[in-house]
Amino acid sequence: MAGTVASGREIMQKSPPRVVIVGGGFGGLAAAKVLKNTQAKVILIDRTNLHLFQPLLYQVATSVLAPSQIGFPIRGILGKQKNTTVILGEVTGVDKDRKCVIVSDADRQNVPISYDYLVLATGATHSYFGRNEFERFAPGLKSLADAVASRNKILQAFELAEAEEDPSRHRYLLTFVLVGAGPTGVEMAGALAIFVRTTLKSEFRRIDPASARIVLVDMASRVLGPFSEHLSQAATQRLENLGVELRLGHGVDQIDADGVVVAGERIASKTVIWTAGVAPSPAGKWLKVEMDRAGRVRVQKDLTVPEYSDIFVVGDTAAFEQDGKPLPGVAQVAIQQGRYSGNIIHSRITGSSKQPAPFRYFDKGSMAVVGKGFAVLQSGKVQTSGFGAWLVWAFVHLQFLATSGLRLSVLLQWIWTYVTRRRGSQLIVNHHVSRPVSTAVDEIVRGAA
Ligand SMILES: Cc1cc2nc3c(=O)[nH]c(=O)nc-3n(C[C@H](O)[C@H](O)[C@H](O)COP(=O)(O)OP(=O)(O)OC[C@H]3O[C@@H](n4cnc5c(N)ncnc54)[C@H](O)[C@@H]3O)c2cc1C
Repeated sequence: MAGTVASGREIMQKSPPRVVIVGGGFGGLAAAKVLKNTQAKVILIDRTNLHLFQPLLYQVATSVLAPSQIGFPIRGILGKQKNTTVILGEVTGVDKDRKCVIVSDADRQNVPISYDYLVLATGATHSYFGRNEFERFAPGLKSLADAVASRNKILQAFELAEAEEDPSRHRYLLTFVLVGAGPTGVEMAGALAIFVRTTLKSEFRRIDPASARIVLVDMASRVLGPFSEHLSQAATQRLENLGVELRLGHGVDQIDADGVVVAGERIASKTVIWTAGVAPSPAGKWLKVEMDRAGRVRVQKDLTVPEYSDIFVVGDTAAFEQDGKPLPGVAQVAIQQGRYSGNIIHSRITGSSKQPAPFRYFDKGSMAVVGKGFAVLQSGKVQTSGFGAWLVWAFVHLQFLATSGLRLSVLLQWIWTYVTRRRGSQLIVNHHVSRPVSTAVDEIVRGAA
């Protein structure tokens, strides 16, 4: 803790102010990097050891990229930042009056870690809109483990269909339902369509992977809600060309082991993936402060919490209104807010008397990919779609990957996949065959003879 220590000759020496950052995602990492080379002692706590590039999770789920191409150890990123210590642990609470966060370590012990300044950047998780029972049958796409679980599910469905002797079950096994037609659902549907119609097409002998049905469901009446009507139309057209079925204007009434029910119709499907809503982390509950309806912490113009000028909340966990509208939960908001909070802390540490300008988000635009070589792009008055937009998308995403090694590896993988149609990580991991398939195996072998 910052303070004064008097030696025998009354020399006053201050210990460095301690900045605790919770979350090594886009917001937390941006704040930590700004505080490099300052007198602050920075402690970054995350419950995982990696910084995850969530925008490309769908590419891990659809076998394009390997998990290690979108996740990078936080220690590796901040290793050379001498004033920063990384702690692997889960924060379970904040004591505002004692100025400490409570961290649950590997032994489930609650350890208090004190701070002079606190930055909470704990992101968001899935929201099943009150239907948490859906989670068992329709996993979401938020973490690396989720993406690998979805990849397992998708690849496993094809394996089961290949070994299935009853052709009437093929439809169930080869129907994929994505719930949520925002950017994640649209990107996932496009990538899955390309995967089954190109890469997998020639890899099976008894089934035709190209016949797989991909259904995208949303209660909204159009895809890509945050984009203009015109770009939403372009994405719809593209999805339909790729053979994706759209079920819009109705939410799912039911999700179970047999599939989903939409507007009274049952769609039999073994693989349902939740690409819909998000809910913020419980930071607001830890702080016991005002939250918006979604549960995000209402922050002030300088991103601090009312009455606690030493606590900042940034990114998906913060509710911030600009020009009368709440800012969206996107990486750019988190990065800009993380940098802003780091800069304010720095100026306070250096005793600057300058009043900081309120936070203002600079919107560089939004993009979404729809299948191979096609994206939609909206930036100010510019609205465009097609291959050019996809090139911009690829460039921007590469730029924001955590290290130059990752950038090179992802670029090479994309070129390889684009040219050869081969995917980089088509693996089922942690899966054992759980039912006898010997008869089917016999038949496959006989068919091949
Ligand atoms: C599938 C998907 C696709 C997306 N696509 C895009 C896109 O194309 N463009 C875009 O701009 N945005 C996209 N986003 C949104 C974007 O990723 C988020 O807005 C951004 O990650 C928010 O940054 P953050 O720092 O607030 O949180 P995160 O980046 O989510 O980081 C939060 C960190 O906090 C850690 N943490 C959480 N709770 C605790 C705890 N209790 N204790 C310790 N550590 C904790 C987590 O492990 C994580 O590392 C996408 C999100 C998803 C899920």
